Amino acid sequence: MRTPPFELYTPKNLEEALATAGELADAGQDFDWIAGGTDLLPNYKWHINAKPHVISLAKVSELTELNPNHIGAMVRLHDLVKSEHTHPVLAKAADSIASVLIRRSGTVGGNICLDTRCYWFNQTEQWRESIDWCYKCDCGTGADCRVIPNQNTLCVATYQADLAPVLMCLGATIHLASPDGKRSMPLSEFFQLDGMTRNVLQPGELVTHLSLPDDSGEWQGDYQKLRQRESWDFPEAGVAVLWKQNGGAKPAALRVATTGLESIPGFHTEEAESALADWNGKESVNAMAEAIRKAVKPVQNTWYAPSYRRKMVKVLTRRACAGMLR
Ligand SMILES: Cc1cc2nc3c(=O)[nH]c(=O)nc-3n(C[C@H](O)[C@H](O)[C@H](O)COP(=O)(O)OP(=O)(O)OC[C@H]3O[C@@H](n4cnc5c(N)ncnc54)[C@H](O)[C@@H]3O)c2cc1C
Ligand code: SF4
Repeated sequence: MRTPPFELYTPKNLEEALATAGELADAGQDFDWIAGGTDLLPNYKWHINAKPHVISLAKVSELTELNPNHIGAMVRLHDLVKSEHTHPVLAKAADSIASVLIRRSGTVGGNICLDTRCYWFNQTEQWRESIDWCYKCDCGTGADCRVIPNQNTLCVATYQADLAPVLMCLGATIHLASPDGKRSMPLSEFFQLDGMTRNVLQPGELVTHLSLPDDSGEWQGDYQKLRQRESWDFPEAGVAVLWKQNGGAKPAALRVATTGLESIPGFHTEEAESALADWNGKESVNAMAEAIRKAVKPVQNTWYAPSYRRKMVKVLTRRACAGMLR
């Protein structure tokens, strides 16, 4: 399990980082950004899609700002949990990620851009060779996908990061930068339904920060997570529910998002809107939870069976709504 050799670049600011990326791209060289390295380096050790060049963001101080409306990509998960500026539901989701040691290195940007996972793929090189590889890391063999067999054009590996659903419900905008300029979009539009490309980032482009609207403090809610071991496991399913109250029994606004179920996090606008349109307290919550169960399409590539994960989405949604019904 030796990490393959790579050349490491440590730019001191964003301008330098983007210039390095531009130079490598012009030279036709493949590279990865590295933030905390808590996901990238284990993958490199297992020889999973390692690149010959790696650009570290560790010294890019412009990416570390944290305030109620701005979360820098290099903000460490531990600092996000502990900060007085962090929305309580976001802090809860961040606190559920991995272990305290990993959270001290792992970052917000790395979590949002986390590689998708699959038990045919997150394995040692010898193990993957023993099954003749798979499409996502086929080592030049043209191997098929092991989950959806007889094809090598689609990867359905699962997005298992915890922050995205809460940030989507808070109305976060994601901000990107590349040697060609900057762009922004709602976080819900950042992800791409493909286990390999994962998101809209172009080669040489990085996440600089997320911004939250001024009303994010008015949202209440909860994040519920299913995992094998509470100590540090990835979500087998995760549900964020956020709502605004206006004094009455019916919430003034409602948003629901999920993770750990497909190649991208899900933002369940239709289900939330239809619950609000015909609000009837607990009954509406049950109907919404059932609609979300039906909407998600997990496949057999994480530890729990897809049918169990779907059943649990319903349970997690109801649990996450408990505070709204009090
Ligand atoms: C034992 C263990 C348990 C874990 N449990 C969980 C869990 O429960 N929930 C969870 O969500 N995660 C979990 N993780 C995964 C990981 O630790 C976290 O998601 C962490 O937030 C990743 O951040 P990082 O800075 O270490 O990312 P890195 O490993 O540095 O990078 C991850 C990916 O993001 C890209 N990247 C990083 N920063 C940027 C940027 N600014 N712009 C563009 N691309 C970027 C990298 O190129 C790479 O592809 C676990 C990991 C381990 C080892
Ligand atoms: S979903 Fe298929 S192609 Fe993707 S990692 Fe799993 S086995 Fe490989």
